[in-house]
Amino acid sequence: MYGAIEAGGTKFVCAIGNENLEIIEQVSFPTTTPKGKWRNYNFLDTLKSYFNVPIALTTDVNAAAYGEYVKGYEKKISNIVYFTIGTGIGGGGILNGELIEGFSHPEMGHMKVVPHPKDSYKGNCPFHGNCLEGMAAGPAIEKRNGVKGQDLSEEDSFWEIEAYYIAQCMYNTTLMLSPDVIVLGGGVMQQDHLVKKVRNQFKHMLKEYVQIPKINHYIVTPKLGQRSGIIGGLALAEKALYNARESIH
Ligand code: ADP
Ligand code: ZN
Repeated sequence: MYGAIEAGGTKFVCAIGNENLEIIEQVSFPTTTPKGKWRNYNFLDTLKSYFNVPIALTTDVNAAAYGEYVKGYEKKISNIVYFTIGTGIGGGGILNGELIEGFSHPEMGHMKVVPHPKDSYKGNCPFHGNCLEGMAAGPAIEKRNGVKGQDLSEEDSFWEIEAYYIAQCMYNTTLMLSPDVIVLGGGVMQQDHLVKKVRNQFKHMLKEYVQIPKINHYIVTPKLGQRSGIIGGLALAEKALYNARESIH
C-alpha cells in the first residue's frame, strides 16, 4: 500500500493506493488556515518523524506530470510536460522518465509572454507583472472580465486572448524540451473549448518550424482528470520505496 498527500492552497487530499496505483480510500478537507502559515514548515522531516518508511516530496505539478507518465500513459512515452492553469500557473516536466530538477524545481508558469495586441491588462504577478501567470491564471481572467472564468460565456472573445498566452507557453515548451506530449490541467482548462483554441493558435505561431506529433495527441487535457496529482503521489511513493530497496542491495 502507498500513501499520498496533495497539499493545495484550497484543499488537502489524502489517499491510500494499492500496488497498481488504484486509490483504495481518499479524504479531502479544506486547508482553512491561510496557505501562508505553511511557509517554511518542514513538512518532510515532520512526516519522517512519524513514519519509518521512504517518503518523497515534490511540487504539485511535478506529481501531476509523474502521475500522467506512470498511470495515464503507462510509461509508453517518457517525455511529458504538465501545466496547471488555475489560481496560479505551474509546469512540471519528465524527460527520459525522470523529473526535471536543476538547482530547484522549474517555474515554467512565470515565463515571459508577448502581450496580445488587443489586451491592455498589465498583469498581476507580484514578481513580474505580465509573465504568463500574471496574464493568464484564473485571477487575471477575473480581474479583466469582472467575473470568474467559470462564469464567463464560452462565446466571449476573451477566450482567444487566453488561448494566445497558453499557446505561447506551448510554443516555448515545444522548442525548449520537445516533449512527446503537453498536458493542460487546472480549473481554467475545464473550459472544454479552450484546448482547441490553444492548439489552433499554437500551430499558427509555430509555422511548422518543427514537426510535432499529431496535434490532438500532443496538446491534451489530463488522462487522469483531476486525479493526476494524487495518483502521481502514489507513483512517487512507489518510486521512493524502489529507490530505498535498491540502495540496500
Ligand atoms: P488551484 O489552482 O487553486 O489548485 P484550480 O485548478 O481549480 O485550483 O483553479 C482555480 C481557478 O480556476 C480559479 O481562478 C477559478 O476561477 C478557475 N476556474 C475554475 N473552474 C473554471 C472553469 N470551469 N472555467 C474557467 N475557470 C475556472
Ligand atoms: Zn511571474
